[in-house]
Formats: sequence, C-alpha cells, structure tokens
Amino acid sequence: MSETAPQKSPTLKTYVGGCHCGAVRFEAEFDLAAPVNRCNCTVCTKMGGTTTSVPPSQFRVTKGESETGEYRVGDSPNYRRFCKHCGVQCYGGGFVEEMGGHFRSINLGCLDGVDVSKLTVQYWDGRYNNWQAGPSPQPFPLRATA
Ligand SMILES: [Zn+2]
Repeated sequence: MSETAPQKSPTLKTYVGGCHCGAVRFEAEFDLAAPVNRCNCTVCTKMGGTTTSVPPSQFRVTKGESETGEYRVGDSPNYRRFCKHCGVQCYGGGFVEEMGGHFRSINLGCLDGVDVSKLTVQYWDGRYNNWQAGPSPQPFPLRATA
C-alpha cells in the first residue's frame, strides 16, 4: 500500500466564510489542494481577489442573502454579489461553457481560517473571454490596443 502513488482524486472539504461585517455568511465544498484562480478581466483587475469555482450544488448562502446586492456587466450571465453594508464581494456565479457550465465563484479571502498566501494560484485570461486557453501558472498580459 505505501508504495502505490497517492490518488489525485479531489478531497472535498466544507469551508465557511462571510463578508467583513458579518451580515452575509456562506459555506461551500471544494479542494484547496487544487490550484485557485486569479483573472485579468476588467472586473477582477479592479477588485483583485483569489477565487475558486464550484458547481452550484456545492455552494450555499447560510445568512443574509437579502443583504447582498448584485453587480454584472451588461447582459453577462456572470455576476458578483456583495454585502450592502460593508461592500465586500463574497461570491459570484454564472455560466461559462468552457469552464463546465453553471458555477459559483468564491472569494477565498472571505473564508474563515484560510491563508490565501499558502495556496497555489493559476491565472485565467478572462479579459478576452479566452477561457479555452485554460489556466496558466503565470498571469496573462494585457494586449496592446491600437
Ligand atoms: Zn458585510
């Protein structure tokens, strides 16, 4: 047994977190040994943050959903929800076919007891909706505009 390679199957664990003021709380199941995400899209660039995405069935708002507001760009299927009191964007969601369809996105900085500096980060080229490029260990540069 001890000489077999370790299984790489994800180890889902339940994490809890919330906004800064405590009005909004959530919980979700995911594997923090897997790489987590940063993105260069126009919203992520301004907001910063490190995220992971899960199927909607693995995410629940446990307190204060009515205390959240929503931000989305135009008619995008993707949105972020923020606490109306402290302004922290705790989670989002939407639909990106290249990333598996419907998802919820969690701001990992909102988790209780998780040191984001210890996580393995991968980068996405969301600025250009270049999801098919997949994740990169290095940030995608912004392209020069004519
Ligand atoms: Zn709050």
